[in-house]
Amino acid sequence: MENKKKITIFGATGSIGDSTLKLIEKNRNKFQIHGITANKNISKLIYLSKKFKPKNVVIKDSNQYKYLKNQLSGYDINIECGEKSIVELSKQKVDCVIAGISGVAGLSSVYTAAKSGQNIALANKEALIALGHLIMPLLKKYKSKIIPIDSEHNAIFQCLKGSNLNEIDQIILTASGGPFLNTPINKLDDVKVEQALTHPKWKMGKKITIDSATMMNKGLELIEAYWLFGQKKQIIKAIIHPESIVHGLVSYIDGSLIAHLAKADMRVPISYALGFPKRLDWSPERLKIKDLNNLTFRKINKNKFPCFALANEVLGGDPSSAIVLNAANEIAVENFLNHKISFMKIPNLISNCLELNYSKNVSALDDIIDLDREIRQRALQILNV
Ligand code: MG
Repeated sequence: MENKKKITIFGATGSIGDSTLKLIEKNRNKFQIHGITANKNISKLIYLSKKFKPKNVVIKDSNQYKYLKNQLSGYDINIECGEKSIVELSKQKVDCVIAGISGVAGLSSVYTAAKSGQNIALANKEALIALGHLIMPLLKKYKSKIIPIDSEHNAIFQCLKGSNLNEIDQIILTASGGPFLNTPINKLDDVKVEQALTHPKWKMGKKITIDSATMMNKGLELIEAYWLFGQKKQIIKAIIHPESIVHGLVSYIDGSLIAHLAKADMRVPISYALGFPKRLDWSPERLKIKDLNNLTFRKINKNKFPCFALANEVLGGDPSSAIVLNAANEIAVENFLNHKISFMKIPNLISNCLELNYSKNVSALDDIIDLDREIRQRALQILNV
């Protein structure tokens, strides 16, 4: 019998955690859970701990530590709390670290995992957007590896398999276009939060669903791809593909175009990372040839989706501007979700923050976290909500 792979899941109670645990549940004989973490969803963390019996459980919110310890008292589980313990857990060598904490909150655990020689299944976008210039050299130095589980990057990763990076002509990410693909541009400012949260193809967390509606998600993904695949910005493109069946394409200098196709289900990329370098059979619903009959592609309208245009401006530039773009976007989305600002105020705020022309030394993790915090404060001042 083959050895079980040891897995640690950062952000186990979130949407990436859910998909990962569903896959592990179907393959209990192949995986052993070394650790799980959660921010503050204590009831779900307790449920998962009892069900999967990980060796280590960490809750970020220290106020809930006592209760957690109490609830798991009969179990042979090491229980910790706080950000420090999350970072400590990322140092413990496993076969695969699932980096599922979203936002800047996930940065320090990914950074530490990269310094600890881990294989990182990366869902956290910010680790590349804000930290790409630091993370990529660390991978080389500490023999760590990133296997992207953002679906488009995972698709590209698969299309690149066995190829020489000098032979790439273009890397193309696809975008569904989100719920407002066919909404007239002059109606966009009136859209409601509930409409923006209705993604036509993917089931995801709230923040990323809004990012898909503004198409900032695709813009951020260009920046992710830029760092991950080490290519010039001219090589990385995005196109709209409303059917969400083709997730990424790579064209090569010899005229070949390799594409990755799958159902829009996060378990496809996550299973690839869990099984890597093998493939995991989790009895997925398979694509049928008839599903390929009506695949369409079209250009992204940058006037209609100014968030995408802003991310394009930042792509390949000073690393501080990507941090500014990302922080301003987080504040804007949060305030849109709270019904405090309108939909088109999102690109407005980001643009205002970029115009502040921050160019800072961001050569250490703390510099990045400081700049992120500063921009959030400035963004809130600008919004005056
Ligand atoms: Mg994606």
